[in-house]
Amino acid sequence: MIARAPTAPPGPVRNAMTVDVEDYFQVQAFAHCVPRAGWDAIAPRVEANTDRILEQFAKAGVRATFFTLGWVAARHPGMVRRIVAAGHELASHGWDHTRADTQDPAAFRADVGRTRRTLEDIGGVPVTGYRAATFSIGERNLWAFPVLEAEGYRYSSSINPIRHDLYGMPNAPRGPFRPEGGALWEIPMTTVRLAKQNLPCAGGGYFRLLPYWLFRAGLHRVNRVEGRPGVFYFHPWEVDPAQPRVAGAGWKSRLRHYTNLDRMSGRLDRLLRDFAWGRMDEVFAGLYQAPPHRHGRPCAGHLPPAVAPLRQPAGDGRHKAGHDELAAGHGDVGG
Ligand SMILES: [Zn+2]
Repeated sequence: MIARAPTAPPGPVRNAMTVDVEDYFQVQAFAHCVPRAGWDAIAPRVEANTDRILEQFAKAGVRATFFTLGWVAARHPGMVRRIVAAGHELASHGWDHTRADTQDPAAFRADVGRTRRTLEDIGGVPVTGYRAATFSIGERNLWAFPVLEAEGYRYSSSINPIRHDLYGMPNAPRGPFRPEGGALWEIPMTTVRLAKQNLPCAGGGYFRLLPYWLFRAGLHRVNRVEGRPGVFYFHPWEVDPAQPRVAGAGWKSRLRHYTNLDRMSGRLDRLLRDFAWGRMDEVFAGLYQAPPHRHGRPCAGHLPPAVAPLRQPAGDGRHKAGHDELAAGHGDVGG
């Protein structure tokens, strides 16, 4: 017999609001135009943009998680302290936006360890969350999860279970799972299951490119039909229509980076109003607090309904062996 899940608390499902704190010239799309060695010569905009976001969140009464580059934190310690002082969660986005899938385990470990220590020193709070640059954890580098755990992280939000030219692991579970038999949780970016495909519903360029009502319908479906929280992400440069244009970027990168920047703040306001939001470590707190099951790990029967899946859409059943899924054996989160 499986223990029954506790009764659902009243009110809407709370989603995780997250910001990947990096400057406009540090994104993957411009990596070939703006070498790291030249970053210090460029006038930074990340602090002013992050302050605008902090103000917007304060007005909306929303607390969020800020996945911050170590490189940025070291140069903008005051900004890091303002993030913490406002009640947000400080988390790691790696040191300098190097893709995790281009690093070997030793280089990755040094990167995530240095970033966590730097953020904790500046912020004065424990840092337990990590998001890989450009969602660069997937089939090829699942070894990254035990390394993160060894470096003191408790969760990662690095897998985007969609098909995309720059990243993606479309056969990964759609909900929280424990990869590689470890204690660390991976909390993937939110998708909507439609026509046997995972469609992106987590923010980024899609949030600016597609109509707002479409995004809202997707997240409503995740919250109301599946009874699960979503994870939304955006970047400080997305609320900055006046940012300098990077020379030499291809058409696809320009489309993704620059489309509808002037509408982002307004859309964000609607999003903050239309859904309930919180920090990653609060929205998914049930993952850590669940008592161990007989097999020594929490299962869906022990998790709060906000985390446990209530009703599952048809799954694709192509999950990689070795994934310790949140709802393994009880219907899949990944489905
Ligand atoms: Zn990033």
